[in-house]
Amino acid sequence: MTLLDGKKVSQELLDNLKIEISKLPKKLGFAVIWVGNDDASAIYVRNKLKKCEEMDIDGKLYHLEDNTSEQEILDLIDKLNDDPKVNGILLQSPVPEHIDIVKCFNHIKPSKDIDGFSNVSVGNLCLGKPSHISCTPKGIIALLDYYKIDLQGKNVCLINRSNIVGKPLFNLLIGRDATITMCHSKTRNLSEFTKNADIVISAVGKPNFITADMIKDGAVVIDVGISRIDGKVKGDVDFANVAPKTSFITPVPGGVGPMTIAMIFENLLETERMK
Ligand code: NAP
Repeated sequence: MTLLDGKKVSQELLDNLKIEISKLPKKLGFAVIWVGNDDASAIYVRNKLKKCEEMDIDGKLYHLEDNTSEQEILDLIDKLNDDPKVNGILLQSPVPEHIDIVKCFNHIKPSKDIDGFSNVSVGNLCLGKPSHISCTPKGIIALLDYYKIDLQGKNVCLINRSNIVGKPLFNLLIGRDATITMCHSKTRNLSEFTKNADIVISAVGKPNFITADMIKDGAVVIDVGISRIDGKVKGDVDFANVAPKTSFITPVPGGVGPMTIAMIFENLLETERMK
């Protein structure tokens, strides 16, 4: 069994990106909009801005009150869309319930949509046209590529159909000639699909959801799930029992999570290349 070491790979990618970024004629600008005070978001936002400092990127946080109106957010996005110093805009999710997050994502100019969540970015991805690709699916493909795990003709069982993970990942996998079974909460006999898969990608958010009996010998297992149990981060996979059966497996933490961060900065650099 080989560990798919997202922490190591992401650091390598970030080191290379830092060199590329240092060659640009001007500093990259990155605007993070955070509405409210969600605890997990606080950590994510802090980590992104810390990485900006390390990467010599001009990261700026726009922290808005819980009761900020949707129109105020749209106005801020307008301002950032027009600001030539801002390359990328990221709206941290979740947002308070009174805000339509899809409307806000769609308000971000596609060229600055480094999360790849807007209709235009998603549409371009589906059509195989250049676009910003959402960071977690892109990070998973980058990790598989790093370890030279070929996807052509492979049976992939993808357990997730969300807009931010499952749907973009489905399109990326199809683009690599994989055969995909997309599973979700209404799937019957899930283990029939997982047991038949060369690669299982789980993004459910339930600890120990994937057990050893669900995985065929030598499969590749990618654990995207994040749950917090007694202050510790856990994935979906019963790692201790599943890992010995696999050829490759991601740990949690230290697998997909760090790859997601690296892809944010790759997408940010791409904003310059896409000009
Ligand atoms: P989500 O929208 O809640 O998606 C969860 C998916 O799991 C849904 O498609 C759901 O099916 C499916 N599901 C739930 N119970 C199931 C069951 N019993 N059997 C089969 N499928 C089941 O969440 P998300 O935003 O996509 O995120 C998914 C997980 O990935 C979360 O734990 C999140 O924290 C994590 N995540 C990690 C990263 C990272 O960087 N590592 C990034 C993004 C997300 P339905 O569609 O039928 O409800």
